[in-house]
Amino acid sequence: MQKVAVVVLGCSKNTVEAEYLLGVFRNKGFEITNNIEEADISIIHTCSFIKTAREESEKAIRDVLSVKKKNGLKVYVSGCLSQLLQNKMNSIFPEIDGYVGTGTLKELPQLIFDKEFDKSLLPPGGLNESKYRVLSSSLPSTYLKIAEGCWHKCSFCVIPYLRGNYESRSIKSLIDEAKLLVDNGIKELILIAQDTTSYGYDIYGAFVLDKLLSKLAKISELKWIRLLYAYPSSINDRLLAVFKEYKNICNYMDIPIQHISKDILSAMRRPLNTASIIEKIKNKLPDIILRTSIITGFPGENERDISELISFLQQGYFQYVGVFEYSNQKETDSSKLKKQIKNSVAIERKILIENAQYSVFKSQIDNIIGNNIEFIVENCSQRTSDDKYSITGRCYFQAPEIDGNVMLLSDNPLKLGEFYNGKIIDAKGYNIKVTIGEYNEFGK
Ligand code: SF4
Repeated sequence: MQKVAVVVLGCSKNTVEAEYLLGVFRNKGFEITNNIEEADISIIHTCSFIKTAREESEKAIRDVLSVKKKNGLKVYVSGCLSQLLQNKMNSIFPEIDGYVGTGTLKELPQLIFDKEFDKSLLPPGGLNESKYRVLSSSLPSTYLKIAEGCWHKCSFCVIPYLRGNYESRSIKSLIDEAKLLVDNGIKELILIAQDTTSYGYDIYGAFVLDKLLSKLAKISELKWIRLLYAYPSSINDRLLAVFKEYKNICNYMDIPIQHISKDILSAMRRPLNTASIIEKIKNKLPDIILRTSIITGFPGENERDISELISFLQQGYFQYVGVFEYSNQKETDSSKLKKQIKNSVAIERKILIENAQYSVFKSQIDNIIGNNIEFIVENCSQRTSDDKYSITGRCYFQAPEIDGNVMLLSDNPLKLGEFYNGKIIDAKGYNIKVTIGEYNEFGK
């Protein structure tokens, strides 16, 4: 039986696609391996969202090609880098055995079988669903990709170019997949897309994320439902209402705003009323925990724009802010703008904002010291020094990989994937320290 290994780069949407791909291969009789050295076939599922992501993908391809020299494995490339480079792939990586883009990903297993790779233009798109999925982690949390592509035209972004127009999955296919995942032990589903809040407008003629969330929330064993990648102006009152209605929808939302200065938002082609939208959300859901993403160093940005942004963040609307320096890419409209900013200045501003935001985070956490918080256990290891158990997990306002963890020491091991209740005692960086006190299992 041939062994296949998938190397996945980039975002959680790519991770889900790679899991579908592995599912299709397994269903075709391939054996899955994480070890490239023993694989017969390797697929590198790439990213090219920004310059550094491209470089990372190109390095991954070269690394796998160096293994090919040793053991002759077949090397195929898929995803956003090959979608971007198209047939330049042949000249840049002549040793690869074939490539597909984003829109032809679902055909890859068959193309490998038929040894027929079409060299013509690759259409954008995505592998949005499959009956088969091989989860890449044993954690009780995973992502649910509800749509692919994007209908917005942010001037700095290549995604519409790489992923095409917005394409929602049907509510039925999403509920079926969610139930299957929950039957297999998943307790937290994290909803992702390029823009989750526009869900359904292309197939149902309206933004119906509220309907999807209501149906998901009725899956009894689903403990947490988390929403990432909300687009400010697609957030409506119906959506905010379901956050109030269902306990298992985490009172948390990720809303990338990218900036707050109207001049910059206008040049980015993003909603100018972003500030009032955020204020409205916090008025309607005062306790909701918000995360956002910010770009610094966008062409034309000046000190006044940065101070305006910092004053807005200091009002404490967001507990978490991911800050990225602007990445100038020739495929985007913003690359043609005047007043390009030096990368060093963009980095200086990034650090300024990160420091300002940490003070906001720290004061918000100081306000909840002493509170009880429910958390899910994701790691438990016994220390050799004192036999205590070092445990990490997450609480409802911590998305995986980006918002820090809950950390504690315990005399007893705690079960992976189980929920416990602890008391917040401190914060270390973005991690929250809790003690489990007299409670050793949730609710007892
Ligand atoms: S909404 Fe997001 S994915 Fe869509 S164009 Fe803007 S930045 Fe890109």
